[in-house]
Amino acid sequence: MSSVATSRKIDALVRSATTVAEQAYAPYSGFRVGAALLLTNGETVTGVNVENVSYGLTICAERSALMQAVTRYGPGVRIAAAAVVNLNDAPSPPCGACRQVLAEFIDANAPVSFPAGSAGAVGMITVPFRELLPFAFDLQLK
Ligand code: ZN
Repeated sequence: MSSVATSRKIDALVRSATTVAEQAYAPYSGFRVGAALLLTNGETVTGVNVENVSYGLTICAERSALMQAVTRYGPGVRIAAAAVVNLNDAPSPPCGACRQVLAEFIDANAPVSFPAGSAGAVGMITVPFRELLPFAFDLQLK
């Protein structure tokens, strides 16, 4: 399977993220999020948000999916496309922390899809990752 992220592959990612969002552990906010990452090796990995009673230790779906990707495929894993959804019909672009963590593994031009807009008018949009985090922190050490 090619890793080029066609719109059909992005649609499939959105479906995977939507399905996995049912697994979210969100007893405090009720905000259930799913993420799916298409890797350059052709595989797809998913993740959900896992909340914690301390709130600050909550992990987002995007980082959850990324940990899964590295765990399964090793440190050389690269992300070709990403999709984030929620079951709350609300905007949910990746948060700043997730953008920085994804930056370590995602191609600058990789499409990232997420719900955007305002209440009552939320729809999926897709932008290249570089538009989400144009000035990522990077020490250029590798
Ligand atoms: Zn996040």
